[in-house]
Amino acid sequence: MIRRLFVLCCGGERTQRALLDPWDTRASDPLEIPYYCYLLEHQDALVMVDCGPSPELVGGPDGALGAQSSLSEPLLSPGDDVATRISQVGFSAAEVTHVVLTHLHYDHCGGLGLLPGAEVHLQAAERAFAGDPPSYQAAAYLPGDWAGVEPPRWREATGEVDVLGDGSIVAFPTPGHTPGHQSVQVDLAGETVILLGDAAYHPGAMAERRLPGYLWSPDALVGSWKQIEARRDRHGAHLLFSHFPPTEELVIAPEAWHP
Ligand SMILES: [Zn+2]
Repeated sequence: MIRRLFVLCCGGERTQRALLDPWDTRASDPLEIPYYCYLLEHQDALVMVDCGPSPELVGGPDGALGAQSSLSEPLLSPGDDVATRISQVGFSAAEVTHVVLTHLHYDHCGGLGLLPGAEVHLQAAERAFAGDPPSYQAAAYLPGDWAGVEPPRWREATGEVDVLGDGSIVAFPTPGHTPGHQSVQVDLAGETVILLGDAAYHPGAMAERRLPGYLWSPDALVGSWKQIEARRDRHGAHLLFSHFPPTEELVIAPEAWHP
């Protein structure tokens, strides 16, 4: 079982509303979104789900994002790196035993270099896609983010995975945003939480089947939404979104999140 879940905010970016909802009447307006990742405290493990952007972007020069800079303006300050965020809740980045990546976009895996002791779990389809991405997604993959992960640390799955073997953290494929995207179901002291990553940006848009402007496959995404809703209904689960702006219910670290 997971004792505590911390929502770590690793900065954010200014982007366009159209990426999240092309039918928004203000689609061309800028929108500021956070980068959330999650620290899970288990009795025998310390697990990150995603790990924010690279420390080279935090405090780096303008344009460090390369071609993605035309869509995304990083809003990052010193201390927004995942190692600092982990230290602020009483752990050290070196203690992290597992990283479960929803996918390999720069804002989800750039902190890998700060977590040298962790196994890295992801879907095999995501690593394959990231190795040769199509032009419309290429800018969001920065190969340097995962270049330092030696082969023995990779754990590539094809399908659902029980990460710790006790049912407390279950990663399951939710393709659509990318072909190898996965979401993560967490058993938190009798409450179930589903960490969506970028499987959906906004609860209302998901409920109304309003597709985002940035995606790989609309059909796959809607199929993933149905799967997520089935799990949510079966377990009474809470859904947490990687980029949904803070709400009153969302507790950001250093306090632990609670349902
Ligand atoms: Zn993404």
